[in-house]
Amino acid sequence: MQFRVLSEYFLKLESTTKRLEMFDILSEVFSKAEKSDVAKTVYLMQEELLPPFFNVQLGIADRMVEKAISDAYGVELAEIKSNNKSMGDLGEVAENSNKNPRKSNLSVTGVYDKIFELSKMSGAGSVETKIAALVRLLKEVSPLEAKYIIRFIMGKLRLGVGEATIMEALSKAKTGGREFKSELERAFNLCSDLGYVAEVFYEKGEAGIRKFEIEVMRPVRPALAERLPSAEEIIAKLGKCAVDQKFDGFRAQVHKNGDEVKVFSRNLEDITHFMPEIVTAVKKLKYKKMIFDGEALTYDEDTNTLYPFQITIQRKRKHNIEAVSENYPLRLFIFDIMLLDERKLINEPYIRRREKIDEIFKNESTISKSKIIITDDAKELTRFFEETIGSGLEGVVAKKLDAPYSAGARNFDWIKIKRSYKSQLSDTIDIVILGYFKGRGARADFGIGAILGGIYDKKNDTFKTITKVGSGFSEEQFKELRKMLDDIKTANKPARIESIMIPDVWVTPKYVITVKADEITRSPTHTCGMENGVGYALRFPRATSFIRTDKRVEDVNTVKDIIEMFKDQKKIKLG
Ligand code: ATP
Repeated sequence: MQFRVLSEYFLKLESTTKRLEMFDILSEVFSKAEKSDVAKTVYLMQEELLPPFFNVQLGIADRMVEKAISDAYGVELAEIKSNNKSMGDLGEVAENSNKNPRKSNLSVTGVYDKIFELSKMSGAGSVETKIAALVRLLKEVSPLEAKYIIRFIMGKLRLGVGEATIMEALSKAKTGGREFKSELERAFNLCSDLGYVAEVFYEKGEAGIRKFEIEVMRPVRPALAERLPSAEEIIAKLGKCAVDQKFDGFRAQVHKNGDEVKVFSRNLEDITHFMPEIVTAVKKLKYKKMIFDGEALTYDEDTNTLYPFQITIQRKRKHNIEAVSENYPLRLFIFDIMLLDERKLINEPYIRRREKIDEIFKNESTISKSKIIITDDAKELTRFFEETIGSGLEGVVAKKLDAPYSAGARNFDWIKIKRSYKSQLSDTIDIVILGYFKGRGARADFGIGAILGGIYDKKNDTFKTITKVGSGFSEEQFKELRKMLDDIKTANKPARIESIMIPDVWVTPKYVITVKADEITRSPTHTCGMENGVGYALRFPRATSFIRTDKRVEDVNTVKDIIEMFKDQKKIKLG
């Protein structure tokens, strides 16, 4: 496909405020995409060169782009800078500065490859080389194309297209119906690379996707846990089950291929460099290929105790990782295994996978395993829970004995029960920021008084509103928030947001925060779980975190979670 054709579609996507329209546009794009460019089309839409675990960075600053636009279109740098100040969008500045009416002949692949080249330029003189390469590209394209190339490079494409909608549209384009989405989703859950899945689909058809399997060095989307408030309910749901210790550290998915070891976070970023001691220990394991899942925490070897999470998280902010790992070594507690040499264990029952863990891992210093019990007795589960939290851990995760590893899914195969569930709605809720309201009174100075928060509706890949949050942030955080949100504001309501409330400023769903509330109530003003004009809302919400970088917007709590929490809270009240 020509990049100019894709740019026209980007323009349409940008202007739509309806998800169904967005779906139709995407289906049309994918019906025109070819084998050779479908992966790149998907990446461009997702606003990434490659998925996060490839660690590809463009490394291009505003001033480099300003210089490139100035050189490419012969407009004074001072004018470009002043236009950037007034428009606040270098994409538009490029579009307006480009007086070349001719449409380019570059394909999607052609443009993508040229942008990709920029990411490979590093070291001395690379700033100039990058600017020169960008100038060449800008000279070749039409104004509209220039706008989207620059926005992409700056990370400000803001199309707001979700993975689920892309998969549905791919299915529609290739099979005529939406049903094949579930197969695409299965493949995506196994490799976390939607561009790659699209390419396999276009090259090998439905059969290729049905045969898709996990592979080392392609991270599996992590299995997640549901919640229930009591041991009795867990036993009623699962019957005889395994009960596993729950650690509060970094989720770490480890891949080994011979001498190469990689560690991926819950968010599927490559965090190998944070964990040198774990990499060294894993290299020594005798198996050639492995994929396993665990939680890494800082461990005090002298006292044989775990440090609190605050110590573990510090590692992310330190530069001298080697020294930190000497003083505060990590210990990895393995709780699942998905692949061992030629054996794909991912679809085997949990209990078989656990037996493998017990067979191959000893409790050594850096690599340990969680401790489990197997029971069908709520009292025994409660005893293990009390003992576990008594030893300073966070809680337990009950696991269904015959369940496969549910990549990318949150379901009742794993059920968490934490210390904090003991009081009513004491668990926190993760929400996505959908917009903000300008402040009144003292807050007017910051230009932001509250944010509009939403949760995710998995059923139709949309965000529903649930609350307005105006407390819990410090003055500094409000100011920073304002800047961050202005950077992602949109002229119209993004298509995937369903809302009755209209904030002063809409933003692309991008940032997640955690809030605590007193209660979940029924409400006519929020669209979360809305039926017959009544939805759900949070009463007295306050932020307990600033922006959470470990969660994607689709990882926030869902409508289903909120309805379940609402029911649980009622149960506690009545009891
Ligand atoms: P989630 O990760 O489910 O979105 P969250 O970030 O709020 O939720 P928690 O509710 O505390 O996290 O619990 C889930 C997390 O617990 C898992 O993602 C995993 O990182 C961690 N965990 C620790 N021990 C275990 C275990 N034994 N089995 C499964 N997960 C565990």
